Amino acid sequence: MSELHDRMRVDSWADWWGGFCALYEMANAQIGNLRHGMKVLRASEFAAQFYCEQKLDLRLLVRARQFQDWQRRTSSEDVEGRTDPLALGVRGHEKLAASDTERPAEEVWSSVMKGEKVRLYDPLLLGKYEEIFLAGHPDVILFANRIPELVIEFKFSAKSIPSAQYHSQAGLYCYMLEGLGFDVKNLHYVLGIFPPSAFASNALSLATDLIANSFPFSRSSMELPEGTACLYASRYNRASSIKELRWASDYWRGTRDAVPTKVDWKCRACSAKQVCRFSLA
Ligand code: SF4
Repeated sequence: MSELHDRMRVDSWADWWGGFCALYEMANAQIGNLRHGMKVLRASEFAAQFYCEQKLDLRLLVRARQFQDWQRRTSSEDVEGRTDPLALGVRGHEKLAASDTERPAEEVWSSVMKGEKVRLYDPLLLGKYEEIFLAGHPDVILFANRIPELVIEFKFSAKSIPSAQYHSQAGLYCYMLEGLGFDVKNLHYVLGIFPPSAFASNALSLATDLIANSFPFSRSSMELPEGTACLYASRYNRASSIKELRWASDYWRGTRDAVPTKVDWKCRACSAKQVCRFSLA
């Protein structure tokens, strides 16, 4: 079985958009065969596997229970006739969703396919690894001539060196772009690591401009009132992303147990350390 699903063709906008929508429909129609009843593997959860898979497993276990309760309380049949704020909100949302005919994503991708120089902010990417559907939202993608030049991902951390899971997440976005049919021969990603206190400032839009105007670089930085933001550029490495997907997918298929971290400081900082049987704290 091919690891990368059949690559979509980018020579016709209509065919490409039709393929993208079909991929979305197929992902949406999944019955939740993945671990914890998940339909798709999201990039953020894929990344979390490389921090501590056991922590991700515990979080999803709790969320699955909460989600079942939430689904019961927000199902269309259950909210019918109820007047509590939750039920009113659900009905309002259903009404809005039914009347929403705007498809801004279509316009954005259409600009990409026309070869325009565009920045995509928080776009939905889709993909497939063997039978597993993938989804994720990178912070920014810079496109020109139908080619993705850079994937930019911003993180807020007290540590200025990007950790392994940030690379894994950005690599997965690149892998999805490849599956969507784009030319990734020269695709790079930039990880921007910002001081946590910069969260509320306009630093991210400034950083996007700086990156767009100064790439190529392997490492750069940006001085902010809140501290230094560090920017790291790497080339997309397909073999590495495939290797990570191979390891990660076994967990989602349930063919192996979650792997706990072997790094004791992660356990000391972990909110689940009291209940985790593998805690090193
Ligand atoms: S205590 Fe350690 S091993 Fe357990 S979930 Fe937290 S980080 Fe992972």
